[in-house]
Amino acid sequence: MSRPEVLQDSHNRVIRDLRISITDRCNFNCVYCLPETEEAANFYQPVATGAKRPASVPGKLLYPWKPRSQILSFEEITRVAQVAASLGVDKIRITGGEPLLRRGVESLISQIAAIDSIRDLSLTTNGTHFPRLAKCLKEAGLGRVTISLDSLDRDNFKKITGRNGLAEVLKSIRLAKSLGLTPVKVNAVIIRGLNEHEIVRLAKFAMDEDIIMRFIEFMPLDSRQAWRRDHVVSGDEIAGRIQSKYPLTRLPADNPSGTSTRWSLGDGAAEIGIIAPVTQPFCGNCNRIRLTADGKIRTCLFSHHEHDLKPSLRDGSGTAELTAQLQQIVLKKEPGHRINEPDFVQPARTMSLIGG
Ligand code: SAM
Ligand code: SF4
Repeated sequence: MSRPEVLQDSHNRVIRDLRISITDRCNFNCVYCLPETEEAANFYQPVATGAKRPASVPGKLLYPWKPRSQILSFEEITRVAQVAASLGVDKIRITGGEPLLRRGVESLISQIAAIDSIRDLSLTTNGTHFPRLAKCLKEAGLGRVTISLDSLDRDNFKKITGRNGLAEVLKSIRLAKSLGLTPVKVNAVIIRGLNEHEIVRLAKFAMDEDIIMRFIEFMPLDSRQAWRRDHVVSGDEIAGRIQSKYPLTRLPADNPSGTSTRWSLGDGAAEIGIIAPVTQPFCGNCNRIRLTADGKIRTCLFSHHEHDLKPSLRDGSGTAELTAQLQQIVLKKEPGHRINEPDFVQPARTMSLIGG
């Protein structure tokens, strides 16, 4: 009997997880991602080092949105998802930019949900448009949702995201739970001097709201390229701060390729995750690839090379050709990121242009 075809890289990692960005647009300006507001500039100003960074021009985006013609259609995205699924991918996350800004997103969800072998279909959102769309996303076949929330303080929320959106995001979290888009995960990127003082409060929020709170180290993927190591609050420090207030016990990994360490909080009152790609890289177990909104496959968040699928999707290439192309691309997956190496260079794409 022949072995089923899989997506295996040259370091023996088998790809099971595809993250699909469906738009490069966003209605937030998170300090750690698209810090193109005056407030974000002010946050970074005191630590500016004179390093060469993209220059910002008032009123102009550092990374203008791509024209529609360069963005994959839902049919093209679904085709990539089908090819990936035929090669063993069983987990798909829809992301962006802000994915809920893309009109008709529920029809893409239903096309992907119809692929038999996809067992986990999720979406990451900043929560602003979720209340309007939640019900139809659920009906279309979305399995679960991850919502970003970096602060429980109205003013700090605005400072971090550039928007007054806390109430809407809290509403989204509660709505996701009530619709059964569970487990609801909530992502908080922790940045020194910005929201580290909210870590314990966010942990309590996990217990109060019965959600999985995930604390994430700040990665060098911001549009100003202003990331510095001293902005990073390490996973160990995050755990220590929570532990100083509540019992925290390490849980076994539920998935060998998971990005987060899992912890039981408050003697089982809630679960939290700590994602520490900077101080505790997990590249050796990485089983993910990413498809950008403009059709590039990225084999690592920090890749400097990307692989364009758009020509094949638009020139009439058949499934066999696309399958072979994807397999070839995956063979080139990097062994790991180089954030901690002296020659590390931040990729040109911001997180919003890659899809987290
Ligand atoms: N706009 C949606 C949102 O914010 O949830 C989805 C896209 S966003 C790029 C996906 C996730 O990446 C978010 O949870 C966000 O917090 C995280 N993220 C963005 N920039 C990051 C950075 N520089 N370091 C760590 N996480 C980051
Ligand atoms: Fe937008 Fe998400 Fe980036 Fe924030 S993290 S700017 S919401 S893409």
